[in-house]
Amino acid sequence: MGIPLVRVDAVPPEASCIIDDEMQADSPSSHPDLRAVPVPTYVYWGGSNLYVNLTSRCSAACTFCLRSFTWEVFGYDLHLFREQEPEAAQVIAAMEVELDTRSPREVVFTGLGEPTLRLGALLEVLTWASSRRLRTRLDTNGHGQLLNPGHRVAEQLAQAGLAAVSVSLNAPDAATYDALCRPKIQGAFDAVVQFIQDAHRCGLEVTVTAVDVPGLDLTALMELAAGLDAALRIRRLVTAPTEPAEAGPS
Ligand code: SF4
Repeated sequence: MGIPLVRVDAVPPEASCIIDDEMQADSPSSHPDLRAVPVPTYVYWGGSNLYVNLTSRCSAACTFCLRSFTWEVFGYDLHLFREQEPEAAQVIAAMEVELDTRSPREVVFTGLGEPTLRLGALLEVLTWASSRRLRTRLDTNGHGQLLNPGHRVAEQLAQAGLAAVSVSLNAPDAATYDALCRPKIQGAFDAVVQFIQDAHRCGLEVTVTAVDVPGLDLTALMELAAGLDAALRIRRLVTAPTEPAEAGPS
């Protein structure tokens, strides 16, 4: 098994779910000016990766989340109203257009929401991407099994061809996790740890991430990551709306 690594990344802030209290994105029909509703972004390029945006809903409300001040990532507006969440066929059609122009290093399921809230579409697109021999990665908050209790989520992701998973661990213990990530479901920290273990068991490449918030016990976090046999990547905290966003969350 690999040696856990710590890397401080200049990239990606995490998103914020402060405006999404019920895990629901609002509706365009309630929007004050329908002409202002942007065309939804289902796939977008960031460097050499092709990113997939399935939902703006999330099961957490992280204190450091990017969404508190922007929905823009790599110059794309990622906000999706609930009614705008794409079916797998829409994502695949959008990907086919992009793949005609260039080949991605990785296809990454991320966006400013939790992709496993759309497990069915996620698995369908993954299966298609696998048939195209595309390398895939899922960026997730690790709540997938709690959110989809009738499924064996890590196993299904692996069977659909997922290569790698990046899990937002963010804290070395449940109390710190709850304070930082404000999960909307009970038992979230234990579920994240279990998901990491499940992902390993299913043969996925696992990286865990944490945002470098002041006071975070990085030593304890490194020890936890090492105990989970996962590489640890520290993400830079972005607080100022003047800083441009470069990548997706989760
Ligand atoms: S899990 Fe990701 S998208 Fe959800 S609140 Fe946290 S940072 Fe934002």
